[in-house]
Amino acid sequence: MADEVSKAQAAAPQGDTIFGKIIRKEIPTEFIHEDDLCVAFKDISPQAPTHFLVLPKKPIPQLSKASDEDEQLLGHLLITARKVAADLGLDKGYRVVINEGQDGAQSVYHLHIHVMGGRQMGWPPG
Ligand code: AMP
Repeated sequence: MADEVSKAQAAAPQGDTIFGKIIRKEIPTEFIHEDDLCVAFKDISPQAPTHFLVLPKKPIPQLSKASDEDEQLLGHLLITARKVAADLGLDKGYRVVINEGQDGAQSVYHLHIHVMGGRQMGWPPG
């Protein structure tokens, strides 16, 4: 089993996460986008030539815990993903992924969107 999947299976929702520390700038990280609602930064373990994450500043642990009142925020995350992908020159397409919970191989319980591009993606995903 891939390391990432083992790590994800051992992960569990918790109060604060490494992404909370990054958003609060307790861990220095270069943001490629920041606004009032969200940030985007490069994934530390890229799975494609371009791989960045978009996450809300609001600490929603995972997609299944988002509420109806998060509807606009979730839309904002996708629009931000689109804009950052364009800024980074991903004009041939890209993959957008949200890993949800244990079966989805989520390892960090602060909702985030993966955007990967710069190579041909396969389907189905593993
Ligand atoms: P997921 O499995 O969907 O929860 O993905 C978590 C992602 O966060 C993984 O792709 C990790 O490589 C990435 N990650 C973990 N820590 C950091 C960090 N400090 N900076 C950037 N990306 C990180």
